[in-house]
Amino acid sequence: MRTFNYDPLSLFIDGAWIAAGNRDTAPVVNPANGAILGRVPLATAADLDLALATARSAFDVWRRTVPAERSRILRLAATLMRERAERIATLMTLEQGKPLAESRDEVLRAAEYFEWFAEEARRIDGRVVPSNRPGVQQLVKRQAIGPVAAFTPWNFPAITPARKLSAALAAGCSVILKPGEESPATALALARCLDDAGLPKGVLQVVFGVPDMVSAQLIASPVIRKVAFTGSVPVGRLLSERAAAGVKPITLELGGHGPVLVFDDADIEAAAVGGAANRFRGTGQICISSTRFLIQRGVYDRFVERFVAATAALVIGDGMTSQTQVGPLANPRQLAKMEALVADAVEQGATVLTGGKRIDRPGYFFEPTVLADVPMTARIMHEEPFGPIAVLMKFDTLEDGLAEANRLPYALSAYAFTTNARTALDVGDGLEAGMIGINQYRIVATELPFGGMKESGHGSEGGTEGIGHYLTNKFISQA
Ligand code: NAD
Repeated sequence: MRTFNYDPLSLFIDGAWIAAGNRDTAPVVNPANGAILGRVPLATAADLDLALATARSAFDVWRRTVPAERSRILRLAATLMRERAERIATLMTLEQGKPLAESRDEVLRAAEYFEWFAEEARRIDGRVVPSNRPGVQQLVKRQAIGPVAAFTPWNFPAITPARKLSAALAAGCSVILKPGEESPATALALARCLDDAGLPKGVLQVVFGVPDMVSAQLIASPVIRKVAFTGSVPVGRLLSERAAAGVKPITLELGGHGPVLVFDDADIEAAAVGGAANRFRGTGQICISSTRFLIQRGVYDRFVERFVAATAALVIGDGMTSQTQVGPLANPRQLAKMEALVADAVEQGATVLTGGKRIDRPGYFFEPTVLADVPMTARIMHEEPFGPIAVLMKFDTLEDGLAEANRLPYALSAYAFTTNARTALDVGDGLEAGMIGINQYRIVATELPFGGMKESGHGSEGGTEGIGHYLTNKFISQA
């Protein structure tokens, strides 16, 4: 087998790739076997001060760079991402664990976001508003909001930075990005593409560190004018408070507990087999994952049989092995959480239809797990599992199904399967979720807004909506 060298890890501040030197570091671990791939440098307060000063001066350069030039650089960066996709995907699988085919797909979709917002950069227009006073000209402009602090997690190390960077850079903002420390090489590889594409020095900077210290310092700085975060609800709430102290807008993409409504008239094969694939993709560590399968009583037994069979047939293993469909969990915290959620549900009377245990091998592997008869008091009925556990439940009427689907404070994704047009209209209208798939599980597309409602967050990324958060309105009224 050809040897693959994991990239050296660094900070990227003021146009320089800065190695750890005498800074503290954190290990980056391959979750498929526990091997240490490298050590990520943790930024000091002085590093962050330099990044902030650079973000301010780079903003002045970038916001004045004409849209066509910003667009050209973003498109070139996307081309480099496509050319380097195989290498970036390998880095991702090594540090995050997902199957190589999923990593490849993620890099290509990240490139697509840069292409999409390269075009949007050229469409940031304004309005001329007729005045009620003669001789007065009123101009409404939209301009870049200012330097952005962006925080992204470990589960999608390419796409979550890409959604933020592509829109913010297209708008003319400078960005300090803090990706997850557990999968740092992927984000650095994207930054390298932008640097090689000619992004002016300091417009993008990448830091790692102690997350709480980094977010406290960056968000408190008057340089930062906008915050964007993807991660858990508690951290989203904390960052919201920090942003509020400086009266700064924040875009939040937080967790989910995706319900799937399967009606008696549905294509059960598509709902069940597709549902198992969707639930266990990314080892279930996906915010828009389908978690609760609500099945109308008449088709419950048939659905359960197909869903459990499809789950039990999934091939689990190292993401670098081509047959693997489900990789390891990303870290030991996740493994401990799955064990605790299953133990709690079983103790309260749930039935394990398949899976339920960690797998006895190196790395953080947990069996794809299907639970039925789970009482409402079980933790998994309220908490986002963010892992390979599905819950199967029965419902009787459309109203009952919708009530259960909308029961939780999460409202990110929801799905429904029905061949009845009236039912499809009613669930589309009645489901509380930012993103809804009817008769399909594939709901994410570059051209669509990605985001949630209720405690799943606010503000959309992607689509024509995604650039607006990085712009601010200004009017000039000229007599
Ligand atoms: P976590 O909440 O501690 O971390 C989630 C992300 O937020 C990480 O990237 C982390 O570096 C960052 N973070 C944590 N504290 C921070 C702070 N004070 N300031 C800035 N960034 C901070 O938990 P975790 O153990 O990594 O994941 C636990 C849960 O988070 C998961 O079970 C899931 O519910 C949620 N999560 C959601 C997403 C998503 O895509 N919405 C992604 C990752 C994790």
